[in-house]
Amino acid sequence: MSNGLVDAAEASTAPRPRLRIIYASATGTAQDLAYRCGRLAQRNHFPVRIDDVERVHLDDLIEHDGDGGGGHVVVFLVATAGNGSFPPSATSLWSQLLSSSLPLGSTLQRLQFAIFGLGDSSYPRFCWPERMMRKRLVDLGAKEVERGEGDEQHYLGLDGTYQPFLAALFDRLNAQYPLPLGMEILPDDVALPPTLELRLLDECGDESQLLAPAASTTTRWLRLVKNERLTSPDHFQDVRLFEFEVPTDKEPDLNFIAGDVAALRPVNDLQSCLALLDRLGWTKDKDRFVQVWDTQSQRAISLPALTPTATKSQTTLLDYIQHHVTPFSALRPSLFPLLRPFATSDVEREKLAEFCTPGEGYEDAMEYGVRTKRTVWEVLDEFRSVQLPVARAAEVLGGEMREREFSIASSPSLTPRRIQLLVAIVQYRTRIRTPRRGVATRWLASLDPSDPTTPLIPVQLRPSTILRLPPDDSTPIICVGPGTGVAPLRGLILERIARGAGGKERNTVFLGCRSARDDKLLGDEWDQLHAQGHVAVHWAISRTNQEGKPRKGAREYVQDVLRRQGEAVWDQILLEGAWVYICGSSGKMPEGVREAVLDIAEEHGGLERDQAERFVSERLEAGGRWREECWS
Ligand SMILES: Cc1cc2nc3c(=O)[nH]c(=O)nc-3n(C[C@H](O)[C@H](O)[C@H](O)COP(=O)(O)OP(=O)(O)OC[C@H]3O[C@@H](n4cnc5c(N)ncnc54)[C@H](O)[C@@H]3O)c2cc1C
Repeated sequence: MSNGLVDAAEASTAPRPRLRIIYASATGTAQDLAYRCGRLAQRNHFPVRIDDVERVHLDDLIEHDGDGGGGHVVVFLVATAGNGSFPPSATSLWSQLLSSSLPLGSTLQRLQFAIFGLGDSSYPRFCWPERMMRKRLVDLGAKEVERGEGDEQHYLGLDGTYQPFLAALFDRLNAQYPLPLGMEILPDDVALPPTLELRLLDECGDESQLLAPAASTTTRWLRLVKNERLTSPDHFQDVRLFEFEVPTDKEPDLNFIAGDVAALRPVNDLQSCLALLDRLGWTKDKDRFVQVWDTQSQRAISLPALTPTATKSQTTLLDYIQHHVTPFSALRPSLFPLLRPFATSDVEREKLAEFCTPGEGYEDAMEYGVRTKRTVWEVLDEFRSVQLPVARAAEVLGGEMREREFSIASSPSLTPRRIQLLVAIVQYRTRIRTPRRGVATRWLASLDPSDPTTPLIPVQLRPSTILRLPPDDSTPIICVGPGTGVAPLRGLILERIARGAGGKERNTVFLGCRSARDDKLLGDEWDQLHAQGHVAVHWAISRTNQEGKPRKGAREYVQDVLRRQGEAVWDQILLEGAWVYICGSSGKMPEGVREAVLDIAEEHGGLERDQAERFVSERLEAGGRWREECWS
């Protein structure tokens, strides 16, 4: 071995090691890539185990004597969360790895690892978590087998580098641990046994086979009391205010603090689910109870409860499609190899095989399915010869439904039994004629608070890792949040007012919209708070003037208004130790705001550019006074 890399020339007759695939997923993509890697491992006859990083302890990486002789190789798939941080699921393992008591060079000396980072090079901290993780593993003595970084900006998306990464990884492993004589790599058109298998239970009503639902201590079942459109009816963007409350007096207050987020698990549209069941020929079984079986660990997996009082996971096949999988979300490229063995017409089998072929085939698959954000359902509706057994539902129908996060826009001190959310309903167009719609926001928008049949909604209250108010209420805060970025900032400002820390000299917000008439979110409320002296509010209205007439000249954004207030902003930051909050869309805005603050430091602080950069990174960011929570 040299330079920490495993030398393929060291091929031996050693038993094939177990591949442990560990994913740290932010939106489910790393998980999908993990399962793809797992299937390739199965085709190459490596014993494999796939785990969410949340369930992994440092001890699992330190090889034990009882590992069966073959040892193990760990493949890490590490997503990049907001602001270049680790996904929350990786926090525990990462802090264990950082422990200063671990001897360098020897702690992980028996570990071989491959690592693949998921990122988007249009953001400044591209693949930072993967880079930090890799460095730490090497410092602790682990040997790197292969490494890759996937970039959403690549014309083939993450696959542009993931495919070559997998090919290189298995070439290397097969060279190091040659296949036993007589064993062949399984071809792509052979269906592998599913890792997660959906089982129809024998009899509907036989509850002995049902598990207790997956428990979550932070989930509260809340009643929806408001679903109100905030943007004007003819505006292209539908933004709504949702309000949820504790349904009975007997239940305790909600446990959250300003800056936290609410995570909601969407429900797929009933009619679409019935159509899907019909297409797959599963309608006759729709009311039978099902169980998800993990074939790795040979045990059933508990599913989240569907009602607040459920003691058993009474999930029918229809419930499963509605609540637990995502056939109506944008597909992932891994769909095509999964469908391929189940196509019964030659034409469709060939087309799917083409989509799985490196080069032009991948390019076609990207164009047909990925760039267009086609859904699994739309592909099944087009590839009519695909006949799927129910057992494949967990694997093929888009993967596990995940919660979507929304910032809490209300104050726990003012309304401890209610939360408000400000939600932009996701709808956009691609080359496909039918508009693409967000699964969660479409579902939320459809809920009617005045309808007594609207069920209680399970809401998980999650602490924000980023947004916290300064411990000292006299510290000024400067908040920048165009669009729905206003949501968490409203929560912070209302909390300050409730705590007696109001005042224009301590609370400044910069908000942004397109038009004074159409999308000035909660404009009247902000005007009132401003008039009452609680907060200094500055609006950037990009397309109109304050009266709603089309704007003459260049568009104005929050960063422009921030620059105009540069002197006051600089005084608050430098002399009064203000904290800066930036929330909203993760596009160009956060970088634009940073540039504006650098300009202000130059103009009003007399700093050179490099001094200004150092000031922002060392005094503000490292000092915990720069808090950015942005989402895509
Ligand atoms: C910590 C945090 C706080 C958040 N707070 C809020 C909040 O307060 N308010 C709020 O509205 N949102 C907020 N979000 C964002 C929200 O979680 C997402 O918008 C969520 O994905 C919406 O769920 P959905 O199921 O409706 O959309 P999904 O089905 O998940 O679809 C969203 C995806 O669609 C794609 N997409 C969306 N628009 C386009 C487009 N124009 N072109 C191409 N692709 C597109 C993108 O890939 C996007 O990720 C927050 C996110 C995080 C992480």
